[in-house]
Amino acid sequence: MSIRFKVILPYLLLTLVVAITGVYVVTKLVANSLGERLTNQLLEAGRVVSDGMARQENKHIEVARIVAFTRGVADAMQKDEQGTLASLAKPIAGGLDAEDLILVDLQGKELLHLVKGRDGTFQEATGQGNAGTWPFVQTLLASHNAQNVPGRSIRLDPTNQRYYYFSAIPVSLNNQMVGGIIVGTSLDTLMSTLKSTSLADIIFYGDNGPALSTTLIGQQDTASFLNSLAISPELYQQITASDTVVNGENFSTDGRWYSLARGPLRVSNDALGVFGVILPVDFVVTSGAISRNTYILIFALAMIAVILVGYLISRLIINPLYSLMRTSQAIAGGDLTQRTHVKSKDEIGTLASTFDEMTARLQERSAELERANHILEQMDKTKLTFISVSAHELRTPLTLIQGYSQMLHSKTKENPELQQLAKGLVDGSDRMVDVVNNMLDVTRIDSNMLKLMKANIPIGAVVMRARTTFEAALKQRNLTLSTDGIDRMPSFGIDPDLMYKVFYHLIMNAIKYTPDGGKITISGCVVEETPGKREAEIVVSDTGIGIDQQHHELVFEKFYQTGELHLHSSGQTKYKGGGPGLGLAIVHGIVEAHGGRVWVESPGHDEQNFPGSRFFIRLPLEGVSEK
Ligand code: ADP
Repeated sequence: MSIRFKVILPYLLLTLVVAITGVYVVTKLVANSLGERLTNQLLEAGRVVSDGMARQENKHIEVARIVAFTRGVADAMQKDEQGTLASLAKPIAGGLDAEDLILVDLQGKELLHLVKGRDGTFQEATGQGNAGTWPFVQTLLASHNAQNVPGRSIRLDPTNQRYYYFSAIPVSLNNQMVGGIIVGTSLDTLMSTLKSTSLADIIFYGDNGPALSTTLIGQQDTASFLNSLAISPELYQQITASDTVVNGENFSTDGRWYSLARGPLRVSNDALGVFGVILPVDFVVTSGAISRNTYILIFALAMIAVILVGYLISRLIINPLYSLMRTSQAIAGGDLTQRTHVKSKDEIGTLASTFDEMTARLQERSAELERANHILEQMDKTKLTFISVSAHELRTPLTLIQGYSQMLHSKTKENPELQQLAKGLVDGSDRMVDVVNNMLDVTRIDSNMLKLMKANIPIGAVVMRARTTFEAALKQRNLTLSTDGIDRMPSFGIDPDLMYKVFYHLIMNAIKYTPDGGKITISGCVVEETPGKREAEIVVSDTGIGIDQQHHELVFEKFYQTGELHLHSSGQTKYKGGGPGLGLAIVHGIVEAHGGRVWVESPGHDEQNFPGSRFFIRLPLEGVSEK
């Protein structure tokens, strides 16, 4: 995961969690407050209904009093003059705020019954009702008390089968009660008035729970709908016994949800029944959904803003890091001219400027090194030129010296003393020719002038030829040289003369650095370290003084010698015999020209215990013809 995501991701997750929690909490609060609002509205509607009933009662009593105090009414009632009553009451009824007007005598007999029809005019239905039997009327009449308080109830008027809210007061004549006046308002009228004042739909329940009537649009007349709204007698009793409006259940009709609250319908301590107020739930739900969506939108916008700010901040932090990373990659790739260009004053800025300083110093050092290297190369070239020139210059006079000394040697046979001196001259000149030849070989190798004359030759033969050269020296130094597997090696493309030089130098070194009586072994085998790439491996090992680890690579450099020069004995094959330090450089050059490798393994230099050295040569087997 890139560092940019590591910085942004926790920040993003945190923002998301905060936003989701925020939306949840806020919508929850809104939903709760909306729920409370609905309950409050239901309670308020309930109070309005109760007040409306009380006002209606006052109107009834007012109307009843107007009728009762109309001259002649009480008298006619006492005398049971129904015709007079009708002629007295009918004219004033039209101007009164009542829909049902009933006059009964003390026995409960209907003396007059006027009912307002749908057209607004009063029809007479005297004798057709049963108002005298209604308990609240009977209680009033039975009291025979002209001062009695009004009674009231919700009843069905049998003359038109409609429910009315009735109020009754006594009618008296000379302080003697002569009957009662009952004034009624139909529930339909009453409820639509209550609906418009309470702003809620209304439902009235009759004794023990049946729903009598409701204002819920279009449903008033549907008996089954009213049935579905009925409540159990227990609940009915419970509500009538309580003082307050109680939140009821939610129900749905016509695909709309409503919430209902019920309360006791009471006027002046008279329990008339139970009413309910109904409010649609969806205005709450809709406003809830609207505010939730608004909050989600606000939070989403806020979140985008927060993420944007976070992204910009992360860019501020990460861009210098990216620049640092790109620069370090370029520098690791060798381009020391690159710089971070980070200018900030914070920790990253300090890191970047330190990094730039380091790079600048590194660039300076590498330029110095390049210069030194160039000088060294020049010096090496000069050295090579010197060797080359001196070797060539020495070669001709040396050949002369070699020739004359050999002649001198052959001409002094009869004078042993002189011949001994001539022998010294021959050996010395041979040795010098050898050194000059080595110098020429090295210059040829260093200037890539080595020409390989390859032939498919068994390498064992070359090894044996080199061995033969040292037969006398081995004998003289009492050294044994054994071979192992060399004769079984396959023939492959090598330059036999150059390869002879390789083994010549290796065997000579083994002789020089192994004490008398030691052992030299030359072994050979075919190895396949990388599959499909077979190589010939020849190892020249001795039981000599060994080479320290730090010299293992350097011994292959020209003129490199490990020991102190003055310790070297002068003989070519003598123990620790001196040499110019060119042998292994020639070995290395020839093996590399053959596409091979050479290296040395030795536990270290020790002239007491003689750990020995092992020189490894690996040559690619190309153009192989198996023996
Ligand atoms: P030199 O002419 O001095 O032998 P070489 O290039 O052949 O030059 O060898 C370089 C040095 O490597 C020698 O001076 C010697 O110290 C060390 N060396 C080479 N061969 C052996 C060996 N077989 N055992 C121990 N030391 C060796």
